[in-house]
Amino acid sequence: MDRRELLKAGLITAGAAFLHKPRLWATPQFKTDPFTLGVASGDPWPESVVLWTRLAPDPLNGGGMPNEDVLVRWRVASDEPMSKIVREGTVAANPEWAHSVHVEVNGLQPDRWYWYQFDVGTGPGRIASQVGRTKTAPAASSQLDRFQFAFVSCQKYEAGFYTAIDHLCDEDISLLIHLGDYIYEKGPIQGVRNMPVETSISLESYRNRYACYKMDPSLKRMHAQFPFAAVADDHEVANNYAGMIPEKASQVAGFKERRTAAYRAYYEHMPFRMAVQPHDAYMTMYRTLRVGSLGDIHMLDTRQFRTDQPCGDGAKPSCPEREGPSTMMGDVQEKWLRGQLKRGQDSRERWNILAQQIIFSQVDVGRHDQAEYMMDKWDGYPQARRRLVDNIVETGLNNVVILSGDNHNNWVFDVKRNPDDEKSPAIASEFAGTSLTSGGDGTDLAPEFASVLAKNPQVKFHNSQRGYVRCTVTPKQWTSDYRVVPFVSKPGAPIQTRASFLVEAGHAGAQKI
Ligand code: FE
Ligand code: CA
Repeated sequence: MDRRELLKAGLITAGAAFLHKPRLWATPQFKTDPFTLGVASGDPWPESVVLWTRLAPDPLNGGGMPNEDVLVRWRVASDEPMSKIVREGTVAANPEWAHSVHVEVNGLQPDRWYWYQFDVGTGPGRIASQVGRTKTAPAASSQLDRFQFAFVSCQKYEAGFYTAIDHLCDEDISLLIHLGDYIYEKGPIQGVRNMPVETSISLESYRNRYACYKMDPSLKRMHAQFPFAAVADDHEVANNYAGMIPEKASQVAGFKERRTAAYRAYYEHMPFRMAVQPHDAYMTMYRTLRVGSLGDIHMLDTRQFRTDQPCGDGAKPSCPEREGPSTMMGDVQEKWLRGQLKRGQDSRERWNILAQQIIFSQVDVGRHDQAEYMMDKWDGYPQARRRLVDNIVETGLNNVVILSGDNHNNWVFDVKRNPDDEKSPAIASEFAGTSLTSGGDGTDLAPEFASVLAKNPQVKFHNSQRGYVRCTVTPKQWTSDYRVVPFVSKPGAPIQTRASFLVEAGHAGAQKI
């Protein structure tokens, strides 16, 4: 390895050679495969995509790497056998980031499939990763007639098998969106599967937890097959945590350190761009992914900057605190989103997609006459929700589709201008996707939801099985297919499309097809 290569790999900076990074494992030798966690790609742009891997020969015990930098080579090819290499390079994997690498490959062609691979070591000690597949985003100006993607959430490891992911791998999609709860923080737990890792509080424990998830063969296959775009919800840190520090969370001793560890480990294991790298207890992950001429996917963060859940959290009757000032995204993100939506105003035929964690529409979940709301959802933040609804109306956007996860149920909603008025017009369509495993097998219609549905005419569909939502977007129509499996407590479940819904461009609200 000469100085020029080291410079290129970011190991040293010109004029400051080896000052702050004295350690390099120059001739790495591995007794076992260091690519145990597979490969991934993500955040596709028209000419660029992120490639990810992490060296972890002993994945459940801190990774098993020496406290030294290791050079990792990467290659991108335009063909599956990796014979036509279009880009290649070297990147340093360092112990500070658990020997994970995030390569932002540039100079690619838009809307193309590519294949990629990593390797480490030299000569007979050289070990290569599996080959992954990825796809760049369509060019901004391209007249795209169709884009297909899927979104998922809530994949509690011990709750079930990733059968839905196996079926997802057979889909013809160009992007996979994950709306949060990629991990659940508790353990050890003997569920349908054994989660061996203790409850995550330390950095090492979060890392071991991601390693446990990422070793799952279905999840590995999924990441090697599609570009990924993730946003975190609560369980990437801790159940139903809320907001800025200091707030409620800071009253728990050590929470700031825990959150810092959690976001660091999250970043280390996701194919994020380097701009998303966390600083202390914060990670700025809201961003827009453009889908050519068809639309914009605004990936939102409703967890890190929100005010505390009102009325003591949970499902409760309203209280004065709930009606008071609230924010779900924080001022900075809210202003940013306003700007993004305003930009969408210039071309109203494009879809404005809000990909975010929690149910946006109002749902009265009270089993009796009195209304009750789930305070962790947008229902706990009516002022903040009203501001976003007003913004959509004022901007004149009529192609807003909201995607949500978190709730472990499938729902379709018409998002009402005024949620308390049944006759109020729909201003957006909301598709809430169920969990991949969280909650276990589930049922088509859980009995406790029958009364809820009777009270909420804005609900167009409900189902409590596991699965994912496949979306097909064209200039004129949006289709969401609710794909479900009948069980996750044992492997091998078949998949079916439980329901499909259509949104006509320019007409908010979903119709069953
Ligand atoms: Fe969840
Ligand atoms: Ca959640």
